Amino acid sequence: MNILITGGAGFIGSNFVHYWIKKHPNDKIRVLDALTFAGNKANLNGVLRKIDFVEGDITSHDQVAASMKGIDTVVHFAAESHVDRSIFDPSRFWKTNVEGTQVLLEEALKAKVPRFHHVSTDEVYGELALDSKERFNEDTPYAPQPDNLYAISKAEADRVTREFYKQTGMFITISNCSNNYGPFQFPEKFIPILVTNLIDGYKAPVHGDGQHVRDWIHTSDHATAVDLILEKGKPGETYLVGSRNDVPNKYIAERIVNLYGKDDSWIKYVPDRHSNDRRYAIDSTRMIKELGWKPAITRENFDDGLKDTISWYKGHPEWWRPLLKRKAMIADGDQKVFAYVEIDRNLGKTKFIYKEQEEGKKDKLKSRMLGSDPNKVSLIVHKLKSHAWYKNSSKPIQKKVVDLVKIARTSGFVDDLANRPELMGTLKQNKIVKIEYSPDKFGIYGVAIWFEVENPQGETHVEGYYSWAMGVKSGAKLLVLIRHKDRITHLALTKEEKFPMGSVIYNLAGGFPRINESVFDLIHRKLEDDLGIDVKNGSVKLGEIIGLGRVMPDSGMTNNHPFLYALVLDLEDNIFPPIKMGEIYEGAGKLVLWPIERLQELVNKVDDSYFLSALARLTLSGVSDIKLGDKRVVWQKHQ
Ligand code: NAD
Repeated sequence: MNILITGGAGFIGSNFVHYWIKKHPNDKIRVLDALTFAGNKANLNGVLRKIDFVEGDITSHDQVAASMKGIDTVVHFAAESHVDRSIFDPSRFWKTNVEGTQVLLEEALKAKVPRFHHVSTDEVYGELALDSKERFNEDTPYAPQPDNLYAISKAEADRVTREFYKQTGMFITISNCSNNYGPFQFPEKFIPILVTNLIDGYKAPVHGDGQHVRDWIHTSDHATAVDLILEKGKPGETYLVGSRNDVPNKYIAERIVNLYGKDDSWIKYVPDRHSNDRRYAIDSTRMIKELGWKPAITRENFDDGLKDTISWYKGHPEWWRPLLKRKAMIADGDQKVFAYVEIDRNLGKTKFIYKEQEEGKKDKLKSRMLGSDPNKVSLIVHKLKSHAWYKNSSKPIQKKVVDLVKIARTSGFVDDLANRPELMGTLKQNKIVKIEYSPDKFGIYGVAIWFEVENPQGETHVEGYYSWAMGVKSGAKLLVLIRHKDRITHLALTKEEKFPMGSVIYNLAGGFPRINESVFDLIHRKLEDDLGIDVKNGSVKLGEIIGLGRVMPDSGMTNNHPFLYALVLDLEDNIFPPIKMGEIYEGAGKLVLWPIERLQELVNKVDDSYFLSALARLTLSGVSDIKLGDKRVVWQKHQ
């Protein structure tokens, strides 16, 4: 067999490569991996000479087409999989997990690759109640709204794969597997962090109350399952893979601490993380009955799997130690400020460290950013020029549109415009007849545009639409919580007079992003621009960032669905600004710090739907409880 393994330098992919070499020594293996933060060529040490390793991106048609040459089987593991990180770079998750899967399918079809297996997750099914006996099986519907971007993008990738099978009949199978553990798992993940912390004399952190249940499977059993699906699976079928080993995290921590020779005092309960679903459990009857699969490690001998994992981490400090120090970098559009993502060993979480860009490193950083602005401008103009409706518009209008591309605030709008097709429903767009916006010096907020359109009978009339200057970019709204000495004390808001209403309103920070701006940029800029809080100045640190999903404002004018985030800002002892507990603080600018104890008063004054949605989601998700140390925010009690 000539097998292409995507994501073969990642955790599960590399375990699969090692398995395949042992089990099928005569097969030819090619690995395609972009070596992102999660990819690590060292996972393939010892076998690199036996395989063809290609560093490449599954979203690139050219690179994928080249990798398909001579291949007869594709096993697709590559993905953005670190949920904590998805909060910062949602678009990358979508691009790799959904578009990347589609590119692979298309190129496999073109290259007439006879067999394709897509690896997915049980997170697409959402969560089960803790006390339920239910298990996911092949008939379980996908969760209508999975609550993290990883799960959403994997669900969409599965859908794309199924649709592709229906349309092309290519021999495709899908597996949805439960939580994996074993060698080469990144040290920020649950089991490795417990083990590596114990090795280094730190306590073993458990999130929340430790009652979250996952169905744990050893990577070696995942590998035998995929092998069997390749051998005996039926075209178009989905197989659920799990070892019937659903146990609470607390139990795992206890087993690991004990197997390590320590007592339970080495377990430390820490605040929960966002999107921590309560229970997953898998029913693998189809795998067992139809394909004859038998996992080697189940609940009965789970200790064996854990012992094996502990001894692997003990024996390979040279593998995991550098990863603890490895920093993933996220930069803002101006490349002045950037954050490292680091592992906080005490909390068992990733944390964000802010730094100013050092001279000399800029170029390196720049090359990691997607395209520079001049490229983006010419790309948008190029797209505009491909439309008949643009070519038919008068020269002054064409100039007006192109001028808007050059203004940072409005280039997103023109990008949106340039993606409009010739036909909107049955109406053909002939040309732009009018375009209106306020002069740039007043700050362009929205753009109104009128098209001459033609119906199928050849009659013409004018249709207009209004868009935010930022175009389709969705933006974000931020619920900013102020924490001092482990206690959430205030909400940071803006207070302003709203022109159309002529009255004072309390507002969340946030809004639409600049073109090419990441969520990180936006958060950073909005804290500074809207609230006057500079996370670089040292008196305030950005703590947790909690994704709360998107919200659809009912204004009816825009198709933007802004993301909602809750941020926790930690104040240093030399407090900025001087805060008194229980008192409303009004800053010189728009900033208002509202004491958490008086939240009910605020809720009654606010009619901003973003604010109320963010607050409701934060409260209902239970996240509020965990961020607040001993003295919890008790907004439920006010109601
Ligand atoms: P991982 O993050 O450790 O590895 C992913 C690999 O994909 C990395 O080597 C990375 O460099 C590579 N990659 C990312 N983007 C790429 C791109 N654009 N082009 C090429 N390569 C790219 O993830 P993992 O935990 O090993 O998961 C592998 C697969 O198994 C994923 O599809 C995941 O959804 C699925 N899965 C994981 C689990 C689990 O418990 N970890 C459970 C069920 C299913």
